[in-house]
Amino acid sequence: MALQLYNSLTRRKEPFAPIDPANVRMYVCGPTVYDFAHIGNARAVVVFDLLYRVLRHEYGAAHVKYVRNITDVDDKIIEAARTNGEKIEALTQRTAAIFHDDMAALGNLPPDVEPRATGYIPQMIAMIERLIAGGHAYAAEGHVLFAVGSYPEYGRLSRRSRQEMIAGARVEVAPYKRDPGDFVLWKPSSPDQPGWPSPWGRGRPGWHIECSAMSEAHLGPHFDIHGGGIDLIFPHHENEVAQSECAHGGERFVNFWVHNGFLSVDSTKMSKSLGNFVTAHDVLQHWPGEVVRLALLSSHYRDPLDWTEQKLREARQTLDRWYRALSLFAVESEASGTEEAKVVEALKDDLNTPQAITRLHEIADTVFRNDADRFPLQKALSVGGNILGLLGSHPLDWLHQGEAEISAKVKERLAERALARKERRFADADRIRAELAAEGIILEDKPDGTTEWRRG
Ligand code: AMP
Ligand code: ZN
Repeated sequence: MALQLYNSLTRRKEPFAPIDPANVRMYVCGPTVYDFAHIGNARAVVVFDLLYRVLRHEYGAAHVKYVRNITDVDDKIIEAARTNGEKIEALTQRTAAIFHDDMAALGNLPPDVEPRATGYIPQMIAMIERLIAGGHAYAAEGHVLFAVGSYPEYGRLSRRSRQEMIAGARVEVAPYKRDPGDFVLWKPSSPDQPGWPSPWGRGRPGWHIECSAMSEAHLGPHFDIHGGGIDLIFPHHENEVAQSECAHGGERFVNFWVHNGFLSVDSTKMSKSLGNFVTAHDVLQHWPGEVVRLALLSSHYRDPLDWTEQKLREARQTLDRWYRALSLFAVESEASGTEEAKVVEALKDDLNTPQAITRLHEIADTVFRNDADRFPLQKALSVGGNILGLLGSHPLDWLHQGEAEISAKVKERLAERALARKERRFADADRIRAELAAEGIILEDKPDGTTEWRRG
């Protein structure tokens, strides 16, 4: 079966075929670097890392080019630098470094190219000049605006009416706009704001033109896959399409638009502005990266994923189980099974991770049943897990490290509970027992006053 991907442009699952049969080109919108990435941002990175891995598996690692940008010029960055009393370059370097560390801890491969917007200002200016020359953009009061009326296809990706687009984009009403839906390609900078010389005076680019220019620089005007979270469909991706297609005489920009669903908290999208976020950095202080990654992949990438501790606990139990299956003794053999293919097939069906996870469980079940040759099963478990970016540790390292961590934690809690019992704070003692039970730790009080524990 060919890889099937849901294309937001056609709203259908379609068989994927690259423009150049031997080389796949993918662009994903990366972070705006002004503070820590939250776990919803991390979901987007993990989802496209998985797609990257599946593409590499299908086409060979040398035949997939994955570009993910860093937005290092943006009003939110200017604002954060001012608040922190920090230089813009220091802020963007520092935040990008943390992003890299956190994403590596989650098992993400680095993209092949990671362009930073400030390195592509001449390309952005050149694209804006082409748009003006083609009658798709106009300069007004130091700004350059894209004229949405010049592009009849505007709204095709998001399938919104003009009224919906204007309301949804919350575009500024400005006297110099010919149409309220026109959006900024270039804007003037005051002396204290970052800026570059341009034909329209000293200024800086709008966000949308950054991705059009960086994707063109690395992948050409027409490429295979463009990704990001569903919140980016409008206005960001709609505007990218308008800019890129109009700058290239209407040539198609992207074949497949792929968008991940939201990570939510109590059914509300996790976002910085709502304040209902946890940073990936924080979660990684408490849980191994692999556990967090599996929790992020436990739902299908287009479905919402409600973020709970329970998901992390389940992911840890699953990984413990898979690593236990891998740690069992097996006689090496040449035998190869068909099990691994079932995991790959699930992923090739629009990255169906819940199904891939079920299949990995089935393989582990067979290992534990011990009625078949273990070696090919363990190989399938390991290869299948690796495509998901999981099971990369040595099984014994994982199991020992897990045990040591748990036993240290449980000992601490048992000491607290013993003190509570001694001081006759029985409600506290019961609460500790219940909390440990929720993490799968069962306590047994012995007649001699000591307490033993085991994993339930
Ligand atoms: P931002 O920093 O808001 O521009 O987002 C960076 C990336 O994370 C984009 O691809 C967003 O679509 C994605 N994203 C932001 N919030 C969430 C969320 N709650 N769940 C999933 N993806 C998100
Ligand atoms: Zn973008």
